[in-house]
Amino acid sequence: MSNAIVVLNAGSSSIKFSLFVERGKSLETDVRGQVEGLYTTARFVSKASDGTVKAEKSWPEGIKLGHDGALDHLVDHLRAELAGDRLIGIGHRVVHGGRLYRQPVRVDGKVLKVLETFVPLAPLHQPHNLAPIRRALERAPELPQVVCFDTSFHRTQPDVAQMFALPDDLREAGVMRYGFHGLSYEYIASILPEIDPEAAKGRTVVLHLGNGASMCAIEDGRSLASTMGFTAVEGLPMGTRSGSLDPGVILYLMDQLKMDTQAIEKLIYSQSGLLGVSGISSDMRTLLESEAPPAKLAVDLFCYRIRRELGSLAAALGGLDAMVFTAGIGENAPEIRSRVCRDAAWLGVDIDEAANAAGRGRISKESSRVAVWVISTNEELMIARHTRRLLETTQGGRK
Ligand code: ADP
Repeated sequence: MSNAIVVLNAGSSSIKFSLFVERGKSLETDVRGQVEGLYTTARFVSKASDGTVKAEKSWPEGIKLGHDGALDHLVDHLRAELAGDRLIGIGHRVVHGGRLYRQPVRVDGKVLKVLETFVPLAPLHQPHNLAPIRRALERAPELPQVVCFDTSFHRTQPDVAQMFALPDDLREAGVMRYGFHGLSYEYIASILPEIDPEAAKGRTVVLHLGNGASMCAIEDGRSLASTMGFTAVEGLPMGTRSGSLDPGVILYLMDQLKMDTQAIEKLIYSQSGLLGVSGISSDMRTLLESEAPPAKLAVDLFCYRIRRELGSLAAALGGLDAMVFTAGIGENAPEIRSRVCRDAAWLGVDIDEAANAAGRGRISKESSRVAVWVISTNEELMIARHTRRLLETTQGGRK
């Protein structure tokens, strides 16, 4: 009988899950999948690690499954999947750990209450992240649960990197730069020593380019600066998020165009970025295939902002030894990687186009002063590892 850990990543309309089973020292994914359309038409799919569908189900239109219904279904499915293995805990991805949580934490009713106080900091994500924790605490209070935060990895940044130039009482009230995508960066930092020991000790910029996109300066495995700040809208233009704006734009929208908070939120989170600029799609694949000038402009802007942020992060690091591309665009779009690398020639980046087209591992020339890598991120594995570690070390954890 092996130990098993379930990792949950709950969003506004879906819950993604992965089941990890301990095999020797490593944790391997047995099944993964999701329930989506939680408040529209719900659909569940579970796949084996080779991609074959193990189970699926659709609910009739009009039945709103919700987070609780989805979790109940997942629990039943995973119980059946576990066969002889023993579930030792659930690991959750939670977007915000505030200033308090610098590390993952075992969650009980008390911790959950603290996490609820961070809802105003991430109103679009935090409530959904917390919903399955609450349900699992109700249904199986004896089952250990661990929360892993997207913000924790960045708490090593120097104060100046975490500050806005605002009066101090606002910082005390929590208005500061938190940074996100921390589990992805932490995963990359955790495997970099095996892949490129020099880079792992040195100054690396990791580019997490997915629907949500950010970049992080890492030195000797620790976050030094990142492009995302108080919210996950700062920094690069993303699929539908604007990225950094002059704060004066928001005032103008309010004062002159009479837009209220909700309208502005919708604009900067859901209608901007690649979608807003192109007017065509938030999907990089579609834009790269399109001949339309606005699609080209959106891609140009995306690459231009990466170029600027890379300069800024290299300055924060005092130089650059390595770059790592990861996430949907970073892992799968050689065209974007090539442009970003060519723009970074002044930093000592010399891309090997054949290796870049092949798309995995080192994509810079041997002679390149800066080593460039493509590495698949694995936030779920990071959460599973944290969960196992915490349950092994916390009193009361099942062994
Ligand atoms: P999320 O932030 O939702 O996890 P992903 O990391 O899955 O996002 O990244 C999604 C993005 O990756 C989309 O813009 C998608 O177009 C892009 N992408 C995926 N595959 C490719 C590809 N082959 N070429 C270009 N872009 C791709």
